[in-house]
Parts: sequence; C-alpha cells; structure tokens
Amino acid sequence: MVSTGGSAPKRTGGIPEQLGFDLGDLPDRLFTCTPSKLASYLDCPRRYRYAYIDRPAPPKGPPWAHNSLGASVHTALKNWYAVDPDRRRSVALAPLLRATWVTEGYRDADQQREVFARALAWLESYIATLDPADEPVGVERVVAAKTSVLALSGRADRIDRRGDELVIVDYKTGRSTSTPDDARGSLALALYAYAASRQFRRRCTRVELHHLPSGTIAAHEHTEESLQRQVNRAEGTAKDIIAAEKQVAQGRDADDVFPPQPGALCSWCDYRKTCPAGATAPIREPWTSVTLPTGEVS
Ligand code: SF4
Repeated sequence: MVSTGGSAPKRTGGIPEQLGFDLGDLPDRLFTCTPSKLASYLDCPRRYRYAYIDRPAPPKGPPWAHNSLGASVHTALKNWYAVDPDRRRSVALAPLLRATWVTEGYRDADQQREVFARALAWLESYIATLDPADEPVGVERVVAAKTSVLALSGRADRIDRRGDELVIVDYKTGRSTSTPDDARGSLALALYAYAASRQFRRRCTRVELHHLPSGTIAAHEHTEESLQRQVNRAEGTAKDIIAAEKQVAQGRDADDVFPPQPGALCSWCDYRKTCPAGATAPIREPWTSVTLPTGEVS
C-alpha cells in the first residue's frame, strides 16, 4: 500500500467526469501503472501532471511527518516477519522500530520521541494479535497483472493465506479509523486482490484495512464481479490519462487538459506551492497530522 499516517484527508477515489476524448485509437502499448499513480489522477489531474508528466518535475514541499511515521511502522512490521517464526514472540520491537525510523518532517526531537513511543505501543498491541507461526504468502510483496489496457503492479503490505484463499492486508496509521466502506471502495486493495489471484492462481477476494492506532480491522469481501468493476474503473482512468497525454502531445494546453481539482487535499499536496489553485489552501506544517489533539494522550 502506498500508506500514510497522520490525519491528512483520505483520497476520494472518486471518478472524475470522463474527458470524453475519442478513445478509439488507444496506443498499442499497455499503460504501465501502480494503484497510487491512478489514484493521483483520480484525486487531482493537475497533481498527476506535476508528479508524472512535467519534466523537470516541480519541486516538492518538505517531507511530511505522517509519511515518515507510516513508512517506519510498515518497515518495522516487514522486519518482524523477516525474523524466524520461533523468535518472533520474543523479538524486541523498540530496536526493530528504531533501526529504520524515518526522522523527516517532525517538529523537533521531543515530538519525534513522543511519536516513536506511540508507534511502538501500536506495534506491540498489533503484534500481540498475530500468530508468530503464520507465514504470509507475501510481505511488502510486489504483485502484477496485465489487462487489455493496463500493465499493473503494486506492493501489497501483506498477503495472507487463509484456507484455500488469499487475503490482502493493508496497514493504516492515520488518525481516522477505517470503515468497511473504505475497504470496499479502495481501488488499490481491489487491484492488489485482482493481481494476487492471477499471480498465485488462487482465489483472492477479501481485502482488509488494519488500523494500528485503534486496533481495528475493516474488511470487505469482493466478488469476482466487483473486482472486475474496479479493474474497469482503473482502465477507464488509464484511458482518460492516455487521451489527455495525447491532447497535450497534439498541442493542447496542459493547464486545460490536466485541470486542478482543489479541495481538502490541497493543504497536504506536495505541489501546493507550484499550483495556483493550492495558493489559498490552509497551510499545514509537516508535523501537523501527527500532533495529538488537545487533551489526547499517547
Ligand atoms: S494544490 Fe490542490 S489543486 Fe493543486 S495540484 Fe495539489 S491537490 Fe491539485
């Protein structure tokens, strides 16, 4: 998963109005993408352009503490699974977390210490719910699949085997608790499930969001049809992107073809300083989303 921590707004995953270009002459080559690349366009076509088309790419803002937190927790979990199963129960999590702790984006050393303690507590609680003998099919595993439009790949946080089936597990470290609707609507989770089922030749329809701060799991059981709908949605997005890129190649103004989609995400956007539409968005400090609300204790 492309996972983030903190309380930055979730991606909407909403499907913008199709651009309406003639798609009859799609290119021969498949559209190479990850779920996060598609999500970037769905969230805001202008941000997609900054991230994937403009070269040199516009400068990004400073690193976000919630991204550092999310990356640190993900790596610690990955490394926990790299330990022999019979040693997992006794493995000390603090050194594991400290070894790959990402320091960027925090206000100061005090905040970093406080967030480290919080993350360690999440991990200790979460790992207590896991069976150390369980060996996932994949941890931070790249899965890939092709369709008639897409050459899709992405890194799933974890792929479990339960009975004869596979389950996609995605770790969340943000403030908001995940809901079954989040699991159902996640394009990324559905694409991971689609790709994993093909790669491992095993049914994979269940997707789960494991929210470490609350210790909750939000799950959704897809059907083959609902997975296919998400693949169709991904293909539709890819076709829009291909059509838009063609328009630019044919001389249309990229500002028109990749319009900004201002909203709550602007405050958290890496390109806020480049994008005219982001200029009026409230400014967030890089550490804002890991700051505890007043009165909350870690
Ligand atoms: S600042 Fe807002 S409108 Fe501009 S690229 Fe970022 S998300 Fe899109």
